[in-house]
Amino acid sequence: MKVIAATKNKGKIREMQEILSPLDIEIVSQQEIGIELDAEETGDTFEKNALIKARAVAMVCDYPILADDSGICVEALGGAPGVRSARYAGDDASDSDRVNKLLRELSSEKNRNAKFVAAVAFIWPDGTEITARGVVKGHITTEPRGENGFGYDPVFFADELGKTFAESTDEEKNSVSHRGRALEKLCKKLKNEEE
Ligand code: IMP
Repeated sequence: MKVIAATKNKGKIREMQEILSPLDIEIVSQQEIGIELDAEETGDTFEKNALIKARAVAMVCDYPILADDSGICVEALGGAPGVRSARYAGDDASDSDRVNKLLRELSSEKNRNAKFVAAVAFIWPDGTEITARGVVKGHITTEPRGENGFGYDPVFFADELGKTFAESTDEEKNSVSHRGRALEKLCKKLKNEEE
């Protein structure tokens, strides 16, 4: 089954492709089929924003749509940046700007507990909507470590892996990640629907 990913984030698309490839699901990015739109993420939850992104693409194409809204929630910052993770250091900031801002804000903080959260939204061409959430716990390191992954991966130490996501292989990250878990739950829901 061909599914359109409602995102332009290459890191997310690569992970969706890897996680879903063993199933009969081929992920195609919205850009590959000429959809350039960027829906405004006005929701106050990951689920609402995932649905906003999925619905925007569903309006203009007839394939099943998959969207992800994700972010990092830091205990000492009251759960921030959370749904604002992408805009945390301003609209034109880079991944390293965001990472550096987070390290600065936590520079004198002992409690570095954090979690990554992902909500995925899937919309069938008939309009049926399914959402699922995944979480992975860890803490924020004091400096970036590792070269793999994207976004906040170099400063997110995953408890279950004993290293940062950027020090992990794709396979290791996907086996415990918020996105891996959300997609696993989504797949179970899709399979139940088939039965
Ligand atoms: P959005 O889902 O497009 O609103 O953006 C999510 C933000 O969280 C972006 O800044 C991403 O880089 C970051 N993010 C989401 N998932 C991950 C991940 O698996 N690793 C690192 N950063 C992530």
